[in-house]
Amino acid sequence: MSEYSLDKKSLWLFDVDNTMIRDVDHPNPFSDALNLWNHLLDLGKTPAILTNVGRLSSRQIHSAVTKAGYKVDLDKTFSAGAAAAAYISNRQPEARCFVIGEGGAQEDFIARGLDVTNNPPIDFVAVGADRGMTFAELNFATKMVKEGAVLICISGSRDYPGIYLGTEDVYIGERSIVAAIEDATGVEAVIVGKPLPEIFQATIELLGFTIEESVMVGDNPASDIAGGRAAGMTTILVDRREEDIVPFDAGDLDKTPHIHVKSLDEVLEMF
Ligand SMILES: [Mg+2]
Repeated sequence: MSEYSLDKKSLWLFDVDNTMIRDVDHPNPFSDALNLWNHLLDLGKTPAILTNVGRLSSRQIHSAVTKAGYKVDLDKTFSAGAAAAAYISNRQPEARCFVIGEGGAQEDFIARGLDVTNNPPIDFVAVGADRGMTFAELNFATKMVKEGAVLICISGSRDYPGIYLGTEDVYIGERSIVAAIEDATGVEAVIVGKPLPEIFQATIELLGFTIEESVMVGDNPASDIAGGRAAGMTTILVDRREEDIVPFDAGDLDKTPHIHVKSLDEVLEMF
């Protein structure tokens, strides 16, 4: 029995890449994560997903983890795009948004009731990773920010491994695209994704739970642990492939996990 009373925790938010599966382009599950997930379901707990992947929609991420063997409902799957859509919608419902992305973020924005458009006036420019982005899109985004649109970075990866048009490589992420717009405009972006504590709090609230009964499980101290901890959650860090831990800027947030395990199988013994 853990000092953290894990048996009293009802909502278990899981990171996806390098925690549940290797990554969305290589969706083979980690067996310890799948064991814990199924154990939580057996106990009547609610496991759910909060990922920083911004180039795929919640529906696409749901499809990837379902194929990997996880039983989860679509309404318990949150991408960084869905988090950004919630962030914008909370401030300006039905805002006009110009979205750079591979289609996933656009889908999450539309699902949230935002007006995704390529024409001015634009209230928010939201940028996710987009390996097909054109100069015209980057230039338009820059002009709209110069004219006063709020600049949103959907998650914050400088680069990330993936497969695009059949080629496995490391690709420039949203943080790098946003850096170009920041440099051209002098405007600083709002980074919406883990570790922003508001993302964790909004997700927990949307799922109908309290912070006190929620746990964050992830591989990344700078995103999963720092953000979950700052939001007030109990955090569990699992050791995974070092080279697959995406660098994030956690600022002054505390990256120390409450519980640190080599395998999530250890968590099963803590109930
Ligand atoms: Mg991860």
